[in-house]
Amino acid sequence: MLLLLSISIFLTSCKNNIKSVEKETYLMGTIVQLKVYGRNAEKAAEESLNRISDIESKMSINIETSEISKLNAKAGISGEKLSQDTYSVIKKAIEYSKLTEGALDATIEPIVKLWGIGSDTERVPSKSEIDEKLKLVGYNDIVLDDKNSMVKLRRTSQAIDLGAIAKGYTADEVRQILVKNKISSALINLGGNVYAMGNKLDGTKWNIGVQNPLSTRGEYLGTLSVTNKSIVTSGNYERYFIVDGKRYHHIFDPKTGYPSEKGIISATIVSDNSIDGDALSTSTYVMGLEKGLKLVESIKGVEAIFITVDKKIYVTTGLKDSFKLTDKEFTYEKGR
Ligand code: ADP
Ligand code: MG
Repeated sequence: MLLLLSISIFLTSCKNNIKSVEKETYLMGTIVQLKVYGRNAEKAAEESLNRISDIESKMSINIETSEISKLNAKAGISGEKLSQDTYSVIKKAIEYSKLTEGALDATIEPIVKLWGIGSDTERVPSKSEIDEKLKLVGYNDIVLDDKNSMVKLRRTSQAIDLGAIAKGYTADEVRQILVKNKISSALINLGGNVYAMGNKLDGTKWNIGVQNPLSTRGEYLGTLSVTNKSIVTSGNYERYFIVDGKRYHHIFDPKTGYPSEKGIISATIVSDNSIDGDALSTSTYVMGLEKGLKLVESIKGVEAIFITVDKKIYVTTGLKDSFKLTDKEFTYEKGR
């Protein structure tokens, strides 16, 4: 961590009198990249990084003093008073739990910890261990107190993990900081959770690569051409381990306690707000193709690209002009 922090890259340059700042650092368990263009670029980027650290310190499950860690430690005993940031993200997660029939469930933490994917304790647990932890999963046990912005978990050993939604919230907060600093062109990338603000400096749209989920080298299978949009992908290639040729990844089905295997291997959501994209990319991944497409098509202003295990790509109608498939290995399923 320290090592990664110390290789943070700061680049500043000036072209046609427009300041351009690029920053790359490690925060929220991922690589954060900011490209900011405009007179206040340096200040805006600096403020953005501070804000990302601030949100991480409140919501990280890996920081003992975070609001989430404190809330989890008090599960079944008492509630924790939270900042507006954390409180609103928990509320949003519950909203999406309801909308997705529990495909997104922030109380998944006991399952996440049991599998330990990406940590040095990762392993395939036994069915009985999984069933035991699964009893603790259930967003209905999150008790909200709006007036005091307090949250309590009803039962002992229950715990919240905001990993599926916190980066989306953060991208939206960074965007607001940039707007406040009168920035009109920027690219925010929080480990694949992307927000493309305005256009590129030359006035053309941003081109965002959609990763080939089967490539081990992070190659793109296509590009999305966008202005003022959030693009968030949940994929089985982000964090996983392989045992006996089988891949176990980090997106869990809250109904089974196993990594979700509903045919989707990558779910990309294009939306105005990144918190919606983050919540929906994780939840549609868990819901599977049919339900995922139906859900996305029912929400105005939200579009999706789903890639299935049989190398087919399903793109919602609103993206037909902006998504370009470049990898011939995949087949384009039109008219969905
Ligand atoms: P990434 O972290 O790779 O951007 P996601 O946004 O899809 O991907 O979030 C995955 C993380 O969310 C997991 O690492 C875990 O902490 C948590 N998580 C996994 N499955 C679920 C789920 N069904 N509901 C809520 N959170 C989940
Ligand atoms: Mg997500």
